[in-house]
Amino acid sequence: MQTKLQQITVLGATGSIGVSTLDVIARHPDRYQVFALTADRRWQLLAIQCLTHKPRYAVLNDPAGVLELERELRLQGCNTEVLQGVSALEMVASHEGVDTVMAAIVGAAGLIPTLAAVNAGKKVLLANKEALVMAGGLFTRAVAECGAVLLPIDSEHNAIYQCLPNHRPDYLAAGLDSCGVRKILLTASGGPFRNTPIKELSLVTPEQACAHPNWSMGQKISVDSATMLNKGLELIEACWLFNTRPQQVEVVIHPQSVIHSMVEYIDGSVLAQLGNPDMRTPIAHALAWPERIESGVSSLDLISISRLDFSAPDYDRFPCLRLAQSAAEVSGTAPTLLNASNEVAVAAFLQRKIRFDQIAVVIDHVLSRMTSSEPKCLEQIHSADTEARALARQLIATW
Ligand code: NDP
Repeated sequence: MQTKLQQITVLGATGSIGVSTLDVIARHPDRYQVFALTADRRWQLLAIQCLTHKPRYAVLNDPAGVLELERELRLQGCNTEVLQGVSALEMVASHEGVDTVMAAIVGAAGLIPTLAAVNAGKKVLLANKEALVMAGGLFTRAVAECGAVLLPIDSEHNAIYQCLPNHRPDYLAAGLDSCGVRKILLTASGGPFRNTPIKELSLVTPEQACAHPNWSMGQKISVDSATMLNKGLELIEACWLFNTRPQQVEVVIHPQSVIHSMVEYIDGSVLAQLGNPDMRTPIAHALAWPERIESGVSSLDLISISRLDFSAPDYDRFPCLRLAQSAAEVSGTAPTLLNASNEVAVAAFLQRKIRFDQIAVVIDHVLSRMTSSEPKCLEQIHSADTEARALARQLIATW
């Protein structure tokens, strides 16, 4: 029987993952209590979430919205304390009153608060894959040294986690070979442009790129899915999470998004995790781990799905996937450069400053001009990130 309510901080509460997390939490008031909610600038939605979940703290990144949020909460009789900025994000991620942190800020902005949760030894539910991609070595070392528990939220990594043996520390220390794993099969839907003629990709609009056929997600990850850079970020994420090599991760196109990924063992067994494409499943799995709780996701109807298809990725159509694979193989700061240049390119595409097919050109430009080094500290990662962003912006400014 549960005795103490688990105190949860949701970083990025107003996003797609944040909203799904609050949906699962609300189904289990006997288990979970919201400690803090955070957002970048959407203070109106954050206010509604505060009125529903009554957290101790709400953090907004945008100074302009803080007064509005504060005024709205007081007007409605809610006494949630309103804070602003990165140090407040770090505080609510590492506070001694917090048990679990959902890391669901999008992009590099999530790194510092997520690391604060790791350094404080929290149970960290990791959606913010960019944090692990840009600083994997430092991040996983901090997890080990600080006794944090890291559980993957990305549906693929959560699936892999569920298909791996329970004696997790074995593979963390000795690699996947040590527990008889031959390879990871990382499934990918192929996104909205899986069958679009390649020459038409230059005409793709942000609206088309964000209309994912199977998943409802934030804009940045939707564009990443459309270029398949997302699968490349996931490959790098898998290498850090499961202590494996890029060559041991095979990307398989599976358009139905029913199998969320698989693990093949040396005896020929392949274990898969299946479910409807709804992020509440991995969120509920990680929240309750090692127990199971109801998530609100409907039962998988295999008879109506009736068939599952698989194919190899087409690298001419998805050059970003190849670029990410190369960055994974080079390692060091190469994934940091990949992530930074992609964030700049995706933002420019969403602002209609560059074409969809130019995202890969920006990343390639940065990766081919900057040298990867082995980062020893966070400052080195930040300076690689800053330099890559500047180079990407310089190129875009010439178009
Ligand atoms: P969204 O864009 O929907 O939400 C992002 C959240 O982060 C929002 O709460 C946003 O606030 C906040 N945020 C954005 N920028 C900053 C900043 N500079 N400082 C502080 N907070 C910020 O993203 P998703 O929920 O789709 O994705 C979140 C993370 O989870 C990403 O790393 C993504 O790759 C990963 N992920 C997402 C999946 C999905 O299904 N959506 C699946 C697997 C992984 P505001 O609302 O105010 O802008």
